[in-house]
Amino acid sequence: MAEPMFRTPKGTHDVLPEDHMYMTYIKKAVRHRCRQAGYKRIDTPMFEYRGVFERGIGEHTDIVEKELFTVRGSKKEGEEAEFALRPEFTAGICRSYIENGMQQLPQPVELYAIGQCFRHDRPQKGRYRQFHQFDLEIIGLKDPSLDAQLIHVVTNILQDVKILDRLTLQVNNIGTADNRKAYAEAVKDFFIGKEHQLPEEDRRRLQTNPMRVLDSKNEDTQILLKTAPTLDQFIGDESRQFHETLLEYLEELGIKYVLNPRLVRGLDYYCQTVFEFWDQSTGAQNAVGGGGRYDGLIELLGGKPTPGVGFAGGVERMIWHMKEAGVTVPNKDQVDVFVAQLGPEAKKKCLSLISELRQLGVHTIGALGEASLKSQMRLADKFEARYTLLLGKMEVKEGTVILRDMKAGKQKQIKYEQAIPQVTKLLGTKNLDTYVLQDHMGEAEVDED
Ligand code: AMP
Repeated sequence: MAEPMFRTPKGTHDVLPEDHMYMTYIKKAVRHRCRQAGYKRIDTPMFEYRGVFERGIGEHTDIVEKELFTVRGSKKEGEEAEFALRPEFTAGICRSYIENGMQQLPQPVELYAIGQCFRHDRPQKGRYRQFHQFDLEIIGLKDPSLDAQLIHVVTNILQDVKILDRLTLQVNNIGTADNRKAYAEAVKDFFIGKEHQLPEEDRRRLQTNPMRVLDSKNEDTQILLKTAPTLDQFIGDESRQFHETLLEYLEELGIKYVLNPRLVRGLDYYCQTVFEFWDQSTGAQNAVGGGGRYDGLIELLGGKPTPGVGFAGGVERMIWHMKEAGVTVPNKDQVDVFVAQLGPEAKKKCLSLISELRQLGVHTIGALGEASLKSQMRLADKFEARYTLLLGKMEVKEGTVILRDMKAGKQKQIKYEQAIPQVTKLLGTKNLDTYVLQDHMGEAEVDED
């Protein structure tokens, strides 16, 4: 193949039909479990004012400092980039909660979203610049039972797509904002006089966001950290109680977890509960999802103090796990019927035949080119059609059509009027792909995006 003139930008990829089958399956599981639990769907813009992320996630976090895709309004304006593509959903959803006065609604407000996120990270396996997340948020009420229920919905989704047993749920409590502040000071104090042993980046982190030194990959830093104060020494009684109760609830719900006192997550807005679903083989490197409580976030974004807890899962990483685990998903894009024809009369007749078949829920392809019948049959084979309906000049004259079973390689001539009843019978009515828009009483499942 010749080298294409354009390729997808680094860190992005096309979602080809074979991966869409997985994506649709995951989206269905998410929608189903969220609806069961009373969540409503929300979409926020893919870009927001930068401040939403800078204030919300924190200016000195990896996501904002290194990975934010900034967007300028227009070239003409020559302004500084005012906007940024969303690196995650939580900050945007909280902005929307405030902007749309959702504090007037019965609390808690439970929302979910599915869509693309953008991070200008160094691309590597499982780490892309454009990727998909599904996201759950419970805003407006604080109780460990909400954290437990949110985790339960997520475990159900991971179970539905059959990858839960490949993951471990890591849980920690990182205390209140005040606890963290006190701890950050202690970390800073601990490193006084030891700064020269730290690499440049960690020295800088110590000034801007001391907690981030804990995530350092540098060996010298890690050795020093062994004797540093630990966060759990700073957690207050209220947080301890909250954590104990959450763990009791998780046990009540039969959810397995691992206590991980080192789990802090890289975003500033978290407090109290934090959790991640780790890949059992690679650990934190490629977590499938994570979340936690963010009781201070809405206030940071200009709203009244409002607690919240949320979770985000990475769809690409879930698909990877499903493939690794050999999970198969239904392929709903199969071709049921290929319509082949020869001659202008036949071609015209085929148009309404195709239309009627499709209307009845039969997946029908009508290439309707000028190729010979033989090459049309070859094409039907390549499309892996189950049946071919063939209408030549002779058939038009006789009012018949040839119905060919592609797998069996057998065909028969039938009356034209019999074509549709015969095909639908062979496929079975329950296999027909009918699309019904759901009214408020309806039971039909709607295929949303
Ligand atoms: P985070 O809130 O940063 O932990 O992100 C939540 C989840 O989104 C992660 O556990 C991943 O599954 C997924 N994710 C985050 N960043 C990326 C990325 N750059 N590429 C692919 N998936 C990602």
